[in-house]
This record gives sequence, structure tokens and C-alpha cells, in this order.
Amino acid sequence: MKTEYLLIIFLLLTFIMILIWIGSFRRKLTIYGYNKNTKYKLIRDHKRKQHIYEVLPLSLKNEEFINKYDFYARINQNLDDRVMKFIDKILNDFDTININLLLNNINNVKINKLKLHSFNTIFSSIKISNGEYNIKKNEITYYDINNSNNLEHELFHLATSKVEDNFMCSGFYYYFKDSEIGYGLNEGYTQLLSNRCFPGNQDFYYYEKSIAFMIEDIIGKEKLIKLYFKADLKSLIDELSKYSSTEEAINLIIKIDCFSKKNSYENINNSFNAKAMANLLKDIQINILKISYSKKNKLNVNYIREFNGYKVIDDIITNQIINGII
Ligand SMILES: [Zn+2]
Repeated sequence: MKTEYLLIIFLLLTFIMILIWIGSFRRKLTIYGYNKNTKYKLIRDHKRKQHIYEVLPLSLKNEEFINKYDFYARINQNLDDRVMKFIDKILNDFDTININLLLNNINNVKINKLKLHSFNTIFSSIKISNGEYNIKKNEITYYDINNSNNLEHELFHLATSKVEDNFMCSGFYYYFKDSEIGYGLNEGYTQLLSNRCFPGNQDFYYYEKSIAFMIEDIIGKEKLIKLYFKADLKSLIDELSKYSSTEEAINLIIKIDCFSKKNSYENINNSFNAKAMANLLKDIQINILKISYSKKNKLNVNYIREFNGYKVIDDIITNQIINGII
């Protein structure tokens, strides 16, 4: 009798182990690294997003020009000090940017400040990482942390967002009929600008920011900032297409999205997924370096060499790019 019980327990344990094994296998399949699944995902995404590109607006092309004095006269005079500092800084730092979207959104924005570990944060239904800008509601929610640029990051989103009947755009992010494109690059560039204008002691979107920095090096600082404030992803893709095919340029933006959406704590701590992420990051950077080399005849040296212990780009790869081998 005793042996039968032991046998049943043994079988149950084996069954549970098999379930855990199958579970881990399924988790591995969810990553978009460079494998069969990835290629399928990219092609499928590309077809869907190619369509987005075709309907991408040259946002704000014919908007009226607003000068700084008119701008100050037209904004709500009771804005918060920190919001006013943001406005002063970007109007001073960026000379020729379009400030229409900032003007459209700033006067009726709702700002919710959350304290870390406070009662309303713990029980709040809003689960945000550091901050969030809800484009449709024109509402910012952020954690008030000393010396962080959380609020300014969200204000950059506000200053570059627009809602139309059938689409939404925010900087280089574009949403149309349940499809979206440009999330990763937009977050990276937003954080890069936030850090430059409002240095703080917290940093986010490290990889996206580095990728945005490489793209800025190709396009040029002033030009990229202008496109960002006009929420003009189409012109950015056209600009990249001068040195690669349009299809490659769109795929690059999609790959950055894939990387950014999958760059989670859970994936980094799964060795299979982390390796796939490193491969995707390598692929993204090779694309950018090739564009950079074909435009400037020299390589941008600010590439990311390592991801979570995995090698990404090294001198061998850069030499292969220079020699046209890859
Ligand atoms: Zn953001």
C-alpha cells in the first residue's frame, strides 16, 4: 500500500515538472529575438505598419506660426511654477521649433502628482512606472521624486501630442486604427531631451535613448528636434530612406518598438530571452551604423557594446560594415 502512495506522489511530481517545463518553453516563444518567430513577426508587422506609413500625416505642415510673445500672452497665467520653468527652458533652448501642440495642450492639462508609498498610490488603480501622459484625456500622472525629471518627460509628450478623429500622434509615436509605430524611438528621444534640458538623478530608457542618440547623429540635432515637435514621423522615415530603402527604415522603427516593448525585468532575467534581446539590439544597431556609414562615410562610435552580459557590437562587426560585408 505504501509503495502505491509513493508511486502516485512520484507520478504527480513528474506531471507537475512536465507542466513547468512546457510553461518555460511557451515563455521562450513570446520573445521577438532573431529566430523564425521573429522574422514572421517582423514581416507581419511590416505589412500592417507599411499601411500606417502610407497614411502618416506630415503633421502640422500648415499650422500657423506662433512667436514666443504671442505664446506667453495666450497661455493660462496660473500655471504651476515647474510647468512654467519647462516652458521657459524649451522656448529658450529650441529656437525654431513648432510650439502649436504645446499651446493646444497646456492650458487645459490635468496634472496628478503621486507620492511614492502614499496611501493613494498603494491603492490607486493607476499603475504607472514613473509617469504617464494620457493623450486623449490630456492628463499627466507622475510620481513626485526629488531631483527626477519625471514631470518634464511627460511635459515633452504633452508638447508633441495631437489627437485627430482617426489617429493620435506624439513625437515619433503614431497610432492609427489599432496599430502603433514609433513607441521605442519616441520614448528614447523624449528621455534624451529630458536629460539634456532637465538633468536629474534618475534615468530611464537607457537603450532607447542610446538608439535615439545614434539616429540624431545621422539626421542632425536641429532637424530631428524640429521633426519631433511637429510629430512628423513620416519625414523622419523619408530622411532615413535617403540612405537605405523605405522598407528598411520602417523595419528599423518597428524593431526598436519590439525591443522596447520586450525590454522587461522578466525577459532580461531569462537567459534565452536576454540573448534574443541582445541579437535584436545588434540587428538594430547594424542597421543604424550602415545608414550612418553610407551618409557620412564614417561610423557613429556611440553604439552599445553589451546587453546584460551578451556581446552586441564589437570591432569585428564595425569592420565588416566598413568593408560592406554586412
Ligand atoms: Zn514617456
